[in-house]
Amino acid sequence: MATIILKSKEDIRIRRGHPWIYDNEIARVEGEPEPGGEVEVRDARGLHVGYAFFNLNSKIRARVYSRTAKKADEEFFVRAFEAAWKWRKFCFGEPAIERRLSLRLVYGEADSVPGLIVDGFVGAPVAQGGGLADGVEQADGVERAEGDIPTKSIPPLDTQGLWLSVQFLSLGVEVRKAEILKALRSVFNPDGIAERSDAPVRALEGLPESVGVLWGSVPERIVIEENGALFEIDLLGGQKTGWFLDQRANRAAAAKYVSRAQWADSPNKAIGARVLDMFCNQGGFSVLAAKAGAASVLAVDSSRDALALLRKNAALNSVSDRITIVEANAFDYLRDLEKMGQRFDLIILDPPAFAKNRAALEGARRGYKELNLRAMHLLERGGVLVTFSCSHWFSPEMFDAVLADAAFDSNRRLHILEERTQDLDHPILSGYDESRYLKCRIVQVV
Ligand code: SAH
Repeated sequence: MATIILKSKEDIRIRRGHPWIYDNEIARVEGEPEPGGEVEVRDARGLHVGYAFFNLNSKIRARVYSRTAKKADEEFFVRAFEAAWKWRKFCFGEPAIERRLSLRLVYGEADSVPGLIVDGFVGAPVAQGGGLADGVEQADGVERAEGDIPTKSIPPLDTQGLWLSVQFLSLGVEVRKAEILKALRSVFNPDGIAERSDAPVRALEGLPESVGVLWGSVPERIVIEENGALFEIDLLGGQKTGWFLDQRANRAAAAKYVSRAQWADSPNKAIGARVLDMFCNQGGFSVLAAKAGAASVLAVDSSRDALALLRKNAALNSVSDRITIVEANAFDYLRDLEKMGQRFDLIILDPPAFAKNRAALEGARRGYKELNLRAMHLLERGGVLVTFSCSHWFSPEMFDAVLADAAFDSNRRLHILEERTQDLDHPILSGYDESRYLKCRIVQVV
């Protein structure tokens, strides 16, 4: 086995749990590692640090997968997936899958399989009909999500299956696809496996994008259940793996404030909360807020495909009459709402990652500041803001500072109700800050 010798002191970060070794941290390579092949990592004194996948075409030259397991073969992946499954059962209860819970089953580095993401969706296949963008208006057109889909076209959830949506984001897992597929099948016994390796980070590993069915059959659409609501998702065509599982618990946390809208000095508090769901995607927050009794939900996103699914999801949960869907750019639309004198009791702000690297931090700060400032202007006094940042580069301290700045500029005070992060199927690995990415603050704006 080829060996990587680290420069002096470069082993410390790795020994504290960080699995990435950058090109400039390596003193020398002994032997000739294969692309994606296993290498032993040693410190400057020659002492063993761990075993890693090697990639000459990436700035992340090696990714540690184990301290002790030499070979990353099928048996290695079976053990890793079983350990990951054990953690989910510990967190969510033994019969997690039987309970219809869709989960991130493998979360890359944090589950000791660098670069491999596996989302497991438990649901029922949907018979298809109608175009993707049915019924969502263009630009800043506003529309009610009317016209419920006939419920008989929705199969009962007892015909459910398990489908995996997988991202191979490092060369190490790319070259071991066959072993990984066998191990996934033996540990999770799915009905089909979809590949969603269409993430931009693939390019940094020197890999092309790849999407398709890897094994078994994958229905065009399935209906999953989350927080007691039903959602139709598109595994091969939706954003990322088809559904943002990391927000599961935060969606429930946000919905709980709908019924507390009487805290707000709202002129229509007898009627119920007016909710704004910015960056709503397929409506994970919107549908739950409507189900929790919101008087109205304004759901805004720039993706027409996501909104078409949201429209279906509103119908699936019989809340179409209370959700208004708008296709728009969030920054422009927030400004428009302010001009129109609109007010809300609960606002959810869940933007995409603004900072994809260190250089983008200042731009990200301005983006988060503007969004949160505008949201504070739109909130009734006593209203609740549920606000997120999902860029790991943008630290919790930076995010809190942005919120404090926005409160100062809008002449509001913030009472922090909850400080939250991603759900437990996206484990945080100590020493590996990239896994601590999602920041959620639920604040009352007074
Ligand atoms: N809240 C969603 C996830 C949001 S992901 C959930 O619970 O699942 C971020 C969303 O922002 C995506 O749906 C994307 O289409 C949308 N988006 C990205 N840039 C946008 C912009 N400038 N204006 C409005 N929406 C945008």
